[in-house]
Amino acid sequence: MNYNTELDLIQDIMSNLKSKYGIRFRRNQKLDFIKYAQNIFRQMGYKTYVQEKVELSEYVFLNQNLIIGDIEKAKVIMCAHYDTPFRSLHRYKIIYGKKMLKRDIIKGGIAILAYLIFIGILLILLNCPTTIYLIVITLFILSVPNKENLNDNTSGVLTIFKIAAELKELNSSKVAFILFDNEEWGLIGSKVFKIQNKDVDNKLFINFDCVGVGDNIVITGDKDSICEAKKIGGNKKGIKGKNILVKEMDLSKANSDERRFKNRIRFATFHRNKHEQLYINNIHTKKDNKLDINNINEISSIIKDYIIKID
Ligand SMILES: [Zn+2]
Repeated sequence: MNYNTELDLIQDIMSNLKSKYGIRFRRNQKLDFIKYAQNIFRQMGYKTYVQEKVELSEYVFLNQNLIIGDIEKAKVIMCAHYDTPFRSLHRYKIIYGKKMLKRDIIKGGIAILAYLIFIGILLILLNCPTTIYLIVITLFILSVPNKENLNDNTSGVLTIFKIAAELKELNSSKVAFILFDNEEWGLIGSKVFKIQNKDVDNKLFINFDCVGVGDNIVITGDKDSICEAKKIGGNKKGIKGKNILVKEMDLSKANSDERRFKNRIRFATFHRNKHEQLYINNIHTKKDNKLDINNINEISSIIKDYIIKID
């Protein structure tokens, strides 16, 4: 593979992530993606390896995190989950800093009930016992991969590729990267990583999850990291209509991989509604089919400025 510019490379990665590697749900889809990703990172000059050994529990097997660069040397570790979710039974909205909307919980309940009744009738007709009925329905719901995953979290993965490409020119050993597996099943990849790398509390973890849609780039830190978050995004003006916001929120119950780490920052992008609330919608559904490359460019430029300054 030969690329004239870094732009060509990122364009090519984006089209591959959109098509060939767009669904990373089943083990073979994940392995195909990892092979591809390792190849690209190695061409950039990074060392990579797949962290496979799992000491988490006898019930968790098959978790593959991709580590890029030198975790021990790095001061800043940037991460994104590469796995994609099963298809949600209904659409829901995530509002920044708020619990799930009551309306969405009710909608979810109704959707599950409708499936239960539908498959229930089917299995009664087939004369099936209750346990099998419950197993079948659970497997049925959990086994349908979502077909479009551009925001959650192809956007985060592309951001990691883009930052790695840019920092490679700086020859920076200050940073390393991780693409986590199984975030969608309860932050399992990051848990496995933490168990196998206990000595990472002094490192800053920056997680990118859902950064592909919306004009508001929100950098969230909590009490241990808000100073650093301000250094990264404070007083920054976005270009091409993007706003950069730094916010403080308790991330100890966060719903993405940064939760596992002591010193943590989360990047996510949001729309803004008429009540001035920041929100994300369409994830885990087939409408997760948009990715604004300007978000990725803006975020990687913010990160590059920050990394240049740290010593
Ligand atoms: Zn996600």
